[in-house]
Amino acid sequence: MQTKRSYIDGVHPEVELLKEGVEWLRAGELVAFPTETVYGLGANALDTSACAKIFEVKGRPQDNPLIIHVCNRAMANILVKGWTLAAELCVQHFWPGPLTLVLPKTANVSDVVTAGLPNVAIRMPSHPVALRLIEESGFPIAAPSANLSGKPSPTSGSHVWRDLKGKIPLILDAGACLVGLESTVLDVSGEVPTILRPGGISKEQLEAVLGEIWVDKPLKNQVPKAPGMKYRHYAPQGEMILMVGSSEHVVQRMGQEIHKGHARLKKVGVLCTLESAPFLHNRLPDLLFVLGSKDRPEEVASNLFEGLRLCDERGMDLILAEGIEEGGLGTAIMNRLQKAAGRKIQYI
Ligand code: AMP
Ligand code: MG
Repeated sequence: MQTKRSYIDGVHPEVELLKEGVEWLRAGELVAFPTETVYGLGANALDTSACAKIFEVKGRPQDNPLIIHVCNRAMANILVKGWTLAAELCVQHFWPGPLTLVLPKTANVSDVVTAGLPNVAIRMPSHPVALRLIEESGFPIAAPSANLSGKPSPTSGSHVWRDLKGKIPLILDAGACLVGLESTVLDVSGEVPTILRPGGISKEQLEAVLGEIWVDKPLKNQVPKAPGMKYRHYAPQGEMILMVGSSEHVVQRMGQEIHKGHARLKKVGVLCTLESAPFLHNRLPDLLFVLGSKDRPEEVASNLFEGLRLCDERGMDLILAEGIEEGGLGTAIMNRLQKAAGRKIQYI
């Protein structure tokens, strides 16, 4: 399939470019588009066979449900049966934005989308291209991240191009995403709101509005409530080690690992904070990627997937990543780093 890459204005999207997207979606095809979190691979959420294509194109496991994107509350009402007070508060405070709500679904939502679950996950994105695309379509859009399953999520049109070129008819490219990490998935169907996946809205932000919040932490042999959380995600091709500790200790350990890696003829890439970078240059890694300052987790979040993808592109056999402090956005960043490292973590 020939893929067209249309460069679209991220602030005032050109209507004729949006309309081309709408035409493909109406015809049951897939369109990649930017959101404030990551790029989405969209299909008409009310068209079951179009949604099934998403799984095919991404190589996504059938049991990993899709998030449906809406542009207003009326559209959400078509999909959701029964809003709880917590859900209402979330809509008021955090929509449009990087918060996905899990609520009981209506019969309008296909089992293909929810992977047979009784609940549906919905979100109103704030990116003008995403919002306007849904508005122009007039139907909700089911969209997971627009990467091949297992790979780091795409935070730029170029990432999508590399993963999906030849597989879908259209990519709407508006450059880099603002947040760079996926949405927080919050189950608001029960008594106490429960975070199923940490993301762009922090636990602390949610607590300030909702009070008590639980976090779904399945034990080893339990299935997480967000099925997608059981898979190894964001995995670069090389082996990755996450190092957590003081900057000084991490720098020292990284130096040793770079040396050992080189002795085994490995190409070693480093993902580190701005604060550690000056002390790592002279350890001569094959790639040094600065994620951002420890004090600006939003910067680290927006650069993280670019860093992971770059390690792949440059053929790094071993990737050493510096952890950052948990709390706020730091919790979501560490969740992604841990998954990327396949749980290979060194506390130093
Ligand atoms: P992605 O769109 O690739 O960022 O992944 C969406 C995440 O939301 C995955 O972890 C899914 O398992 C989760 N999710 C989607 N729909 C539901 C649902 N109905 N109930 C629970 N989790 C969901
Ligand atoms: Mg994804």
